[in-house]
Amino acid sequence: MSMKVMDSLRSSVKGSVVEEGDDGYDEARVVYNAMIDRRPSAVVRCQGAADVAAVVRAAAEDGSDVAVRGGGHSVPGFGTADGAIVADLGDMTTVTVDPASSTAEAAGGATWGMFNEATSQHGLATTGGIISTTGVGGLTLGGGIGYLARGHGLSCDNLLSAEVVLADGRVVTASADEEPDLFWALRGGGGNFGVVTKFTFRLHPVAEIYGGPMFFELADGPAILAYFADYVRTAPREFGGFPAFQIAPALPFVPEDRAGEPFVAVVFCINGPASEAEKIVQGFRDVAKPVAEMVGPMPYPAMNGLFDGLVPPGLQHYWKAAFLDELRPESVAAHMEHGPRVPTVNSTVHFYPINGACHDVASDATAFGHRDANFALVIAGMWPDPAENTANTAWVKDYYAAIEPFAQPGGYINFASQDDQPKASSNYGANYERLRAVKREYDPDNVFHLNQNIVP
Ligand SMILES: Cc1cc2nc3c(=O)[nH]c(=O)nc-3n(C[C@H](O)[C@H](O)[C@H](O)COP(=O)(O)OP(=O)(O)OC[C@H]3O[C@@H](n4cnc5c(N)ncnc54)[C@H](O)[C@@H]3O)c2cc1C
Repeated sequence: MSMKVMDSLRSSVKGSVVEEGDDGYDEARVVYNAMIDRRPSAVVRCQGAADVAAVVRAAAEDGSDVAVRGGGHSVPGFGTADGAIVADLGDMTTVTVDPASSTAEAAGGATWGMFNEATSQHGLATTGGIISTTGVGGLTLGGGIGYLARGHGLSCDNLLSAEVVLADGRVVTASADEEPDLFWALRGGGGNFGVVTKFTFRLHPVAEIYGGPMFFELADGPAILAYFADYVRTAPREFGGFPAFQIAPALPFVPEDRAGEPFVAVVFCINGPASEAEKIVQGFRDVAKPVAEMVGPMPYPAMNGLFDGLVPPGLQHYWKAAFLDELRPESVAAHMEHGPRVPTVNSTVHFYPINGACHDVASDATAFGHRDANFALVIAGMWPDPAENTANTAWVKDYYAAIEPFAQPGGYINFASQDDQPKASSNYGANYERLRAVKREYDPDNVFHLNQNIVP
């Protein structure tokens, strides 16, 4: 970046500006996926919309790229880039709850852990991710799949308005009444349209949930997957949770001699009375005897943090995503071949159900264009040792190749990797052309291109 632009950026923002050579540069450029090792020209710890606008304007003047970082969880590492100016929203984390209107306002860099902590004080929540350290920003803009989705829709379905810094540095509010096309595009179109500095969400009563994981023998996998697929079709909307392939961690509830083995797991999160929830859970025990389980009542924020320990920052990540209309019996053989080869305790395969309230919303009502899918599948390769990169990415790729014939053409943009960019049009699905039209209106020069990009 030129000295002139840098000097004027430094004098115009409240937040700190860290350049290559400055103390703290290496800490400032780190993102969650340790496979991503990029050298931005500067990282700006923004303190509000005015700082974000200053970054956008400085990048335009300098001819630099702008990278936007919220929670930093992007698997392709979109929150940083060589030579870019990073708008780091990590200091913008205030969450304010209005219990009277059952709404909450979250600053653009808040995480779901921060959000749930604030809303749970009032017995309220909205759909967020399953890990507490993921950012509200990236997750919501891509759609937002989580435990509460069957009951309350995707995160983006609960978005009421957003404060957005546009590509030309203007700050606008987008809602059903103001900038309605932009508001439509923000709900599933990812970070393509601007930097959201404030999100306002609708909240729902969520107090104690009944949840946790249950591990089954691999031999029982086909029966458990079939039971889940059938059950979830008509399950009450209070039922959240998903089947998974997972290596059992060495934790007290796992028999010592079984820790480290792969299992078919079911993770429960039922937002209803414990007595009713227990009946649902018993239905799974009646299919096959679990090897281990830790299912019971807990506050929703505890459920949201339950698996954080399996996914610390600093792992290598390579993921693939697919939408499934059904979990078809003919595909189960492919899952049962590749799922049990899950290579590390950090890696996992989740089959998130996205029916229920997610299907109440028409596929053209928001930019999230996959309302006909019943499951979002993620094959999440996560491992600590870079020396294992080839073997671990091969597991993800081979698994994906085996199930692709049974999947819909696109996958969820938030679970996609950098090499999925050529699939952007099918990942955005039926809404891609309208998204391109909105992109032409709000970001014709593709300033915000470090994302699953919609080319104007
Ligand atoms: C461990 C883990 C668990 C996950 N679990 C779930 C899950 O349960 N459900 C789910 O749906 N997804 C999940 N994801 C995927 C997640 O939604 C995406 O990785 C998402 O991009 C993360 O958002 P972030 O703000 O943390 O990421 P960042 O890396 O900070 O942001 C990624 C990109 O999103 C955009 N962005 C982020 N914040 C803003 C903003 N305020 N304004 C404009 N653009 C912004 C930018 O383009 C940015 O480059 C998970 C990911 C990980 C690594």
